[in-house]
Amino acid sequence: MLSGIGPADRLAALGIPVLADLPDVGRNLQDHPATYLVFTHDEPVSLLAAGQERYVRQFEVDGSGPLSSNVPEAGGFVRTRPDLLAPDVQFHVLPVMFVDCALGVPTEHGISFGPCVLRPYSRGEVSLASDDPTAKPRIRCRYYTDASDLSTMLAGVRTALAIARQSALSPYTVRPWAYPASDSDADLTAFVRAHTQSIFHPAGTCAIGPVLDPELRVHGVAGLRVVDASVMPLVPRGNTNAPTVAVAERAADLIRAAASEPALAATGAESP
Ligand SMILES: Cc1cc2nc3c(=O)[nH]c(=O)nc-3n(C[C@H](O)[C@H](O)[C@H](O)COP(=O)(O)OP(=O)(O)OC[C@H]3O[C@@H](n4cnc5c(N)ncnc54)[C@H](O)[C@@H]3O)c2cc1C
Repeated sequence: MLSGIGPADRLAALGIPVLADLPDVGRNLQDHPATYLVFTHDEPVSLLAAGQERYVRQFEVDGSGPLSSNVPEAGGFVRTRPDLLAPDVQFHVLPVMFVDCALGVPTEHGISFGPCVLRPYSRGEVSLASDDPTAKPRIRCRYYTDASDLSTMLAGVRTALAIARQSALSPYTVRPWAYPASDSDADLTAFVRAHTQSIFHPAGTCAIGPVLDPELRVHGVAGLRVVDASVMPLVPRGNTNAPTVAVAERAADLIRAAASEPALAATGAESP
């Protein structure tokens, strides 16, 4: 958008010369909203102590121990309704308190787990706040603006509560730290609205279709491809890193093929 590719009216309002009027640049923002149940306990088995010197040494010696954890150590996929063809909720389970989108500091041993909405219908937006390239963009996630996302999340939280109440977990769910006041719809909704956070899977704001052609080329702009999670028209039903790598590998193939075409033409060889 700073380069003049995006919604012409908004770019012009910021004094940015318009190169290509593409109103959908920045629209269609999707993410996986997540709501974690967090419990604390006294069992010395969480990642709270992972930074201790002995664990640093252990990791240096043979790559084992708490520092070898990927943190979200377990997970699962759930259909919250039997008529669904594919899971609509994913769980991430972490042997540590998950505080303030992981930016906060755990204070006790803990466990965190909870649902995220895998196929959200709400759509957010990224836009420019100014033409200053050092200014932060405006990012509006607009979670739950489509009511069905909230219903899915409530069903996911109910499943999480059922798991949390299993006797095998009782040594680790001693003190509820982030937990709804009751199982009523009203209290679950209040909990979800107060505790929802991003699970860091933003996608969709330069989607194949309205912004890009199927070979990732920007409509109306020669020599420009987009290669990242923003090209996905729909956020995948799962973590986004591997799908982004897949996009990048496909893009590398497309770029390599395009680069070899003139050379092939010069030799008279047929394009593969
Ligand atoms: C905390 C966190 C945890 C995550 N955990 C997981 C996980 O466990 N599993 C999983 O599958 N996914 C996970 N994800 C999501 C995954 O990392 C992203 O989906 C993926 O990295 C998206 O790739 P991308 O290329 O779209 O963006 P990025 O990986 O963000 O790449 C964008 C790149 O552009 C660069 N850049 C930005 N501005 C400029 C500029 N002006 N000029 C030049 N370069 C610029 C940045 O430095 C960056 O290297 C996580 C994300 C976060 C933030």
